[in-house]
Amino acid sequence: MILKNISLGSYNTFGLNYITEFFVSVKTEGEAIKIFKSAGTIRQPLLILGGGSNMLFTGDYRGTIIHPEIKSIVIEEKNDEYVVISAGAGEEWDEFVGWTVDNGFGGLENLSLIPGTVGAAPVQNIGAYGVEVKDTIVKVRAVSTENGSIREFDKNDCIFGYRSSIFKTEMKGKYLVTRVFFKLAISPALNLIYGSLADEVSKLGGADLKNVRAAVIKIRKSKLPDPEIIGNAGSFFKNPVVDFSTAEALRKKYPQMPCYEDPSGGIKLAAGWLIDQCGWKGKVSGSAGVHDKQALVIVNCGGASGTEILNLAEEIRKSVWYRFEVELENEVEVISSI
Ligand SMILES: Cc1cc2nc3c(=O)[nH]c(=O)nc-3n(C[C@H](O)[C@H](O)[C@H](O)COP(=O)(O)OP(=O)(O)OC[C@H]3O[C@@H](n4cnc5c(N)ncnc54)[C@H](O)[C@@H]3O)c2cc1C
Repeated sequence: MILKNISLGSYNTFGLNYITEFFVSVKTEGEAIKIFKSAGTIRQPLLILGGGSNMLFTGDYRGTIIHPEIKSIVIEEKNDEYVVISAGAGEEWDEFVGWTVDNGFGGLENLSLIPGTVGAAPVQNIGAYGVEVKDTIVKVRAVSTENGSIREFDKNDCIFGYRSSIFKTEMKGKYLVTRVFFKLAISPALNLIYGSLADEVSKLGGADLKNVRAAVIKIRKSKLPDPEIIGNAGSFFKNPVVDFSTAEALRKKYPQMPCYEDPSGGIKLAAGWLIDQCGWKGKVSGSAGVHDKQALVIVNCGGASGTEILNLAEEIRKSVWYRFEVELENEVEVISSI
């Protein structure tokens, strides 16, 4: 059913109360096929919106928002070593991770408590605590938004990158992900290399799936604002990757600057550190602000407009450029009013 003039307040984690002109919730793959076969009759432009935890609206949306609510978790294949599970795009990501951990299937535990939906996980190639979701994905099933045809993307077809995939680049807006297929381990090798994870896990009684999930949740809750309480979309910017000589020059000037080798061959810098050095942590500008525990997170202090949040992001970007000559790129997708 196509709904008209729906508030987006509960569909974005910044808590911004804009209106979408049209809103369609899709409960099955069949519904998605039907809608997109008659795409010509739907008011354009289309926007696929999961949990809205990586989106910043700057005004009302004049077009149609498609909201996938396709549910169900299916064990597709199982043997002594691994299990292949498919999950509907509309499943809540963290509930799904909880289900995998409760069933003893390993691979997603480090990605606990990331807000959003299963369908967005491959789009974003979500990552945390040394793991990216691409490490477990075998294929992604999707429906063309142009003609309603079904296509299955194998892992290699997805062209995963840092918080990126084909669904954010050349196929952006062209496919609605309906199901995601994950290969998870029955006797998983746990990944505890990141930060204080190993310490937290040992405090909880030792390394097993449940303790890793509990530790990740504990650490995340201590560092990141809960969008139910303070509107935010997690990291506003990506960690920038610079070439080796730029990193060396910066390291000479700022020996304490964190940096890591990136698989691309460049050096990844910590955007949060760069922003913090510019004095932004905890600063408030009007109704928007920078979180006091994590400079990478811009928050809606209450009643901010999308433009206010975007303007603050712009100020932060400029100050990082002036001080370090490093360009920050948005991780959050800005949806301008049209
Ligand atoms: C407090 C907080 C912490 C966070 N921490 C992390 C973190 O640790 N790591 C991380 O990677 N991210 C993190 N995020 C960002 C966010 O949770 C992820 O990007 C998440 O995958 C977004 O899911 P969503 O359903 O809300 O997608 P949305 O924000 O609704 O959409 C994101 C993009 O995916 C597209 N999309 C959504 N669903 C589909 C679909 N079914 N088919 C096709 N396209 C689709 C949208 O069009 C859009 O381009 C955090 C966010 C918050 C608020």
